[in-house]
Amino acid sequence: MNKINRNKVEKPDCLKEKLVEWTEHYIKKRKVNKNYWYWQKYNSKKVEHILTPILSELTNFHCSYCGIFPLKQDVGGRSIDHFKPKSKYPNLAFEWTNLFIACPVCQNIKGSKFPEDIEPLKFDNCHYDFDYWFEIDWTIDKNHIIPNKDRSKQEQEKAKETIDWLGLNNGDKPESRFIELQKFNGSNIDINQWSYPFFLERG
Ligand SMILES: [Zn+2]
Repeated sequence: MNKINRNKVEKPDCLKEKLVEWTEHYIKKRKVNKNYWYWQKYNSKKVEHILTPILSELTNFHCSYCGIFPLKQDVGGRSIDHFKPKSKYPNLAFEWTNLFIACPVCQNIKGSKFPEDIEPLKFDNCHYDFDYWFEIDWTIDKNHIIPNKDRSKQEQEKAKETIDWLGLNNGDKPESRFIELQKFNGSNIDINQWSYPFFLERG
């Protein structure tokens, strides 16, 4: 949920070179088998293995959605997520700006869902700003991310849709935020003035 600046890294060569070829191949294969998916190879390396470290660097090893940190480097600890699911948007399967590194919890929640009525917030959008859209309800036992009440009704709906779609208040995420907050206990940081980075240190 932190802002992601794509300019921090260079767009990978494999995507610059092969985007059209791989996308066309995927769309063609899907017509025969709708479950078909293959990351392709580039210079005999699996593209997934080329992109994962670059996307992780982009977020400083945080999940692009919930912010969990550090993302484990072993299998299953992090993987590439298609912001707009490839099953619904096959033309975006290899599109650089559609690829995000994510934790398995977020991947599970998100699955192949995508909001139909409202375009959700995209954290690599150059106009995106966490504090503009969201705030944290630090009420005891809540610790929920909520839409920023200073925004218009329409904007709050967009923020809410994003929260619900990514499950940002699901499971132990609110509690994890509370644990994170505890680290600031006794410090002179005013959490209400604090731009929420959600630096989770548990795996
Ligand atoms: Zn996550």
